[in-house]
Amino acid sequence: MKTGAYNGEGMKMLRLGAHLSIAKGLPKTVTMAKEIKANTFQYFTRNPRGGAAREIPPSEIAAWQEARQRAGLYPIAGHLPYTVNLGAVPGRQQEFARMVLHDDTLRVAAIGGEYLITHPGHHEGDREASLERIIQVIKESYLSIPEPGPMLLLETMAGQGKEVGSLEDLRSILACLEWPEKVGVCLDSAHLFAAGWDLRTPSGCRQLVKELEAKIGLERVKVMHLNDSLAPLGSHRDRHAGIGRGELGEEGIAAIVNDPFLGELTLLLETPVSTYEEYGAEIALVQKLRLDGSREPVL
Ligand SMILES: [Zn+2]
Ligand SMILES: [Zn+2]
Repeated sequence: MKTGAYNGEGMKMLRLGAHLSIAKGLPKTVTMAKEIKANTFQYFTRNPRGGAAREIPPSEIAAWQEARQRAGLYPIAGHLPYTVNLGAVPGRQQEFARMVLHDDTLRVAAIGGEYLITHPGHHEGDREASLERIIQVIKESYLSIPEPGPMLLLETMAGQGKEVGSLEDLRSILACLEWPEKVGVCLDSAHLFAAGWDLRTPSGCRQLVKELEAKIGLERVKVMHLNDSLAPLGSHRDRHAGIGRGELGEEGIAAIVNDPFLGELTLLLETPVSTYEEYGAEIALVQKLRLDGSREPVL
């Protein structure tokens, strides 16, 4: 079932899931997703802090494809490791970024994943120069791949330290790439809030959507990392909190998931949990906030 399917009560069904580990094999992830009542998930394409990749054998992929189909999991997103900096200056770091972007596009394609999500990168003092390098690396290591594969989604960042990833940055990258169909945007509610977007009210959410429409184009925005934020509005700090336990609070999360555009995105939790089972309660809470909020008209 794809995004936009109805649940029979006149309301669209949420595409809601979480970040899961594929360390125990992809088929195991299907069981994990069912346990927490997720119908979509995200995983790291390789070790998030190191960068070592696990070879996924064809037999595992075959078992996964079948189990995924049966469970109706859609879409599947791979996330590049945090150690990748697409904006790095030429050298070892840039070589690593090129290699990972290229290889992991193929690795996500091999398992039939729909999206590859990455942080745009960091600058070393010169933002413009780093944007140019990001554009070049995407051209050479992603857009040059002829086979059909996952759509590349650039994530909105909090603007912590030397992070690139404001809406303006993403717009520049997309414009310089001449708006390729294969490149889009992944929102993150905690990052956006820390960057200064007040998503605590329906009108605040509408303002963001208007800006997305003007700067990026709504058809290009596919996923939202649904996280509460420990860091205050406009603080430019990247600190995720559990749903309802941060500055957004239950009211803010309700405003987001009942927004006619944001609530229709694929929503993926990256909230701090000690075991994946804890995502079950968070998913149930988001479902409840959606149902409660749906009784009130959204402006
Ligand atoms: Zn991310
Ligand atoms: Zn974050």
